Amino acid sequence: MNNTDNDQNEIKEIFSMTPDGVERAISVLWDECKRRASSCEMCALYATRKTVVFGEGDESSKLMFIGEGPGESEDESGRPFIGRAGQLLTQILQAAGIDRREVYITNVVKCRPPGNRTPLPEEEAACDALLQTQILLIKPAIMVLLGSTPTKWILKTTEGITKLRGRWFDWRGIAVMPMFHPSYLLRYSSDKKQGGPKHLSWLDIQEVRRQWDLVRETGMTEGLNFGR
Ligand code: SF4
Repeated sequence: MNNTDNDQNEIKEIFSMTPDGVERAISVLWDECKRRASSCEMCALYATRKTVVFGEGDESSKLMFIGEGPGESEDESGRPFIGRAGQLLTQILQAAGIDRREVYITNVVKCRPPGNRTPLPEEEAACDALLQTQILLIKPAIMVLLGSTPTKWILKTTEGITKLRGRWFDWRGIAVMPMFHPSYLLRYSSDKKQGGPKHLSWLDIQEVRRQWDLVRETGMTEGLNFGR
């Protein structure tokens, strides 16, 4: 069988819309999205990045985490949340009984802003097609927005993270919770007082875990708190 036959068989399979066809279509879209990201020059960040940090984790997970953008370690390695803040995120998840490998993690922008500055609105806008495609393909039931940047970008709000964290929002039928970014928590590493950022984040992740248990156990979203 030559390549053309293979391509035609693949297209026939996809358009048959059988479960196998749908799965194949999703896989083709993932490949295309990753291919486009790997050589993307849609915003100025392409000029200073070392690696495009697309995202990682379970691509069929119902629980998705979205941060701001890659830092230095992420830019070097091509993996999201692996520097000090990422290690803290992994520890927070572990402490709450969530395995990092069972969730999907990405950022609003896939290339490192120089000096770890906040991404500019035009950079967020340029990268949004990639993020929206990821959300579309993953179809999460729950999304956690880590810090102010993804919270403002996704929820289109100007309210600060301190006001919004720990609350559920309904975003296109997905239960969304903003939390403090782990890099913010690193500044409070020795602060364990009640009502402090670390304590509040612990409460938030337990609430995420409570909702995640509902989805994990039933595969359904009935009973989820959408903050309505
Ligand atoms: S940040 Fe996003 S839009 Fe900008 S170059 Fe990287 S992948 Fe492309």
